[in-house]
Amino acid sequence: MAEIVLETKGLTKYYGAQPALDHLDLRIPRGCICGFLGRNGAGKTTAIKMMLGLLEPTAGSASLLGCDSTDLTPAIRQRIGYVTEGHRLFRWMTIARLEKFQQAFFPEQWDEKFFADMIEYFELSKKQKIKHLSNGQRAQVSLALALAPNPELLIMDDPTLGLDAVIRRQFLEGMIELITRQGRTVLFSSHILADVERVADRIVVIDKGVLRADCSLEQFRASVRKVVLYFDDSVPADVELEGLLHCRRSERQLELTLVGVDEAEVAAWAKRAGTERYDFVEMNLEDQFIEFTAPPHRRRLFQWEEARP
Ligand code: ATP
Repeated sequence: MAEIVLETKGLTKYYGAQPALDHLDLRIPRGCICGFLGRNGAGKTTAIKMMLGLLEPTAGSASLLGCDSTDLTPAIRQRIGYVTEGHRLFRWMTIARLEKFQQAFFPEQWDEKFFADMIEYFELSKKQKIKHLSNGQRAQVSLALALAPNPELLIMDDPTLGLDAVIRRQFLEGMIELITRQGRTVLFSSHILADVERVADRIVVIDKGVLRADCSLEQFRASVRKVVLYFDDSVPADVELEGLLHCRRSERQLELTLVGVDEAEVAAWAKRAGTERYDFVEMNLEDQFIEFTAPPHRRRLFQWEEARP
């Protein structure tokens, strides 16, 4: 069995009476590329900070590379890369100075050539000062700094936030570069589901601090489905299908979002409900995530008002 490099057991954080993270149990094996997903405020940053020992849990525990997160030794820290939200870097330093500063923490393992290649690939110069870089360029420097020590485990909190599509693509390619170095493990949070779909092989979804899904990308893609059923007369009042997430009705159509329901079950129920006409609707990961995490009865936020004469 693959070695577990990131583990949380009942990891919990309360702020006042409210749980930001509620009993998170995760076991991420070596070599896994894990997309850590959740809507704003779901608890991703809170979980990541506790995994890295930067925030004390209210209950439960986390461990990285077999070492408890509250007690990570310098030797273990050297094997872990971390890219934070917002890419906080010393603004007055040049890229070259920042490299020297960072390199001092990883004297044995710093890959100077790799760092130089990445800086060149991102069309930056080591002479540039951080304060003169754009947000996207700072993100690129952050990634190069995180990858140059050749970490076994890379944890990134929304690393592509605010980056344009081209830079995001370059950033992902940088990540793939790391991944292809054998046995590397990555956990990254992101709201860009197309990126997650491109690189992740496993996804973890949390919602209001609670774990809602932890499975392979393919399993999630195959499980969340949308079907539209067409009726000659009125639509049935009840839908007796386990795994029903959302049901939207119009006069002669039912649109159902389902989790873990196979086509035969849909066909059987449709027949009992009086129709044999239905279509499965193509969904990308973003559509699936939205359906999976959206509350069932959403109040309408905006209403178009006709201009009064
Ligand atoms: P986003 O995608 O918006 O970055 P997130 O999933 O990273 O969100 P967290 O930042 O972990 O979410 O926040 C989880 C919950 O904890 C939120 O409801 C947030 O308001 C709350 N929270 C986070 N930090 C604090 C704090 N220092 N004090 C009080 N509440 C906090």
